[in-house]
Amino acid sequence: MLGFTSEPKAVHDHIEEDCAVFGVYAPGDDVARLTCFGLQALQHRGQESAGIAVGDGETVIAHKDLGLVTQVFNEAALSALRGNVAVGHARYSTSGGKDSWDAAQPHVSAIDETLIAVAHNGTLVNAAQYRARLIGEGEELRSNTDTEVAAKLIGRETRRTHHLRQGIQYMMQTLRGAYAMTLCSPDALYAFRDPNGIRPLCIGKLPDGGWVVSSETCGLDIIGATYVRDVNPGEIVRFGEDGMSAFQGVPAAKRASCIFEYVYFARPDTELDGMSVYQARRNMGRILAKEAPADADLVIGVPDSGIPGALGYANESGIPFTDGIVKNRYVGRTFIQPTQTMRQNGIRIKLNPLRSVIQGKRLVVIDDSIVRGNTSKQLVRMLRQAGAREVHLRIVSPKTMWPCFYGIDTDNQDQLIAANMDDAQMLDYIGADSLAFISLQGLHDAIHPQHEGFCDACFSGDYVVELPEAIKKKAFLPKYLNQPEKVR
Ligand code: SF4
Repeated sequence: MLGFTSEPKAVHDHIEEDCAVFGVYAPGDDVARLTCFGLQALQHRGQESAGIAVGDGETVIAHKDLGLVTQVFNEAALSALRGNVAVGHARYSTSGGKDSWDAAQPHVSAIDETLIAVAHNGTLVNAAQYRARLIGEGEELRSNTDTEVAAKLIGRETRRTHHLRQGIQYMMQTLRGAYAMTLCSPDALYAFRDPNGIRPLCIGKLPDGGWVVSSETCGLDIIGATYVRDVNPGEIVRFGEDGMSAFQGVPAAKRASCIFEYVYFARPDTELDGMSVYQARRNMGRILAKEAPADADLVIGVPDSGIPGALGYANESGIPFTDGIVKNRYVGRTFIQPTQTMRQNGIRIKLNPLRSVIQGKRLVVIDDSIVRGNTSKQLVRMLRQAGAREVHLRIVSPKTMWPCFYGIDTDNQDQLIAANMDDAQMLDYIGADSLAFISLQGLHDAIHPQHEGFCDACFSGDYVVELPEAIKKKAFLPKYLNQPEKVR
């Protein structure tokens, strides 16, 4: 058992969000301000840094920094960003270091005299190989991000062909992995997506005719844009003076939208693949109630993502739903960490139980996922200290047993409790009275029973993009490496 026998450590214990990208083409509008609002709607996807770049017909200028969108942008910063086209980014680091200003995006890059800015959500699995090659050929790279590698490849081919679209296409033919990207030149906006369509990216239209691209539909809603369609897998879409034009950059491959977007990443008011994320989460709770019933007095959800599942579980089981845990909404992802002693003394920064509601009660507690197990252990302890008589933990995703290499930070299997412990050991470690997860089929049924185009690799080990050997050796525990049908 690796790393799960000690007291909870001062590390986050959740699958982390995976970045937001945004873009606006709207000459005559305040594109930077629209992008700022868009990023605020998408803030849940990344809270380490934020940035906006605008193109004004002549050049591209950018403002970015570490922190939340509202910390990075004030009136003065926005007023300095005048232009017709903008891209924006909110970052959770999956490559390039957590506190690095250079790794913050959009990444601005020069193609001879012309500047471009790139914003990326995802991870490029073979970027390290091309990074080494670029450095060997004399390129200077400022950050350690895969996004910079992508920008360099786009630049090289654009320099050769004098066509930005061909530069983007070359990058798409060369780099593998998950990417939903927006790019602005001085006078146009581009949006493009990996051939499997792993990370989401949608197109919207503003009432006065401008175009918007966003990781989620909630980013369109906040600025009054109407959903038009998704960027298709492998597609490059350009927005400029001539309106919108689309081009297949690389052939679409097996469809593999990230199923975890429905479980946790996406906002409940977003729609993905025509399905409401909120409704999908309620369905997960409903199905889980059938698959893993519990004898209890109340159903509570862990805020925020566990709440719709708790409502679904309560409706199906007939056990009353109630608020049971209050979330402090003003604590960001990068909050000041308590010391180990404070943690052991039960400091509760983010979640606090409603003692008057749960005292003496047998609880069904719905959470979205268990990654390392530390948070679940603390949660159960907190509920017991508040007087809960029994705690039956129910999880609306299957066991997270496999690392993600497509834009999420679980890149090593030894971090995952379900890959290291059997059911009895997990229950013992977490300290609940019972523990159950939704089945993989149940999760699929909750979202789109007929839809086969999901990535569910973190539950199934069925990776859609082939992984370099070096990554496999580093990321998988030996006992799982010998499952060739999984670890391709
Ligand atoms: S491995 Fe999991 S988190 Fe990563 S893209 Fe696939 S479903 Fe999403």
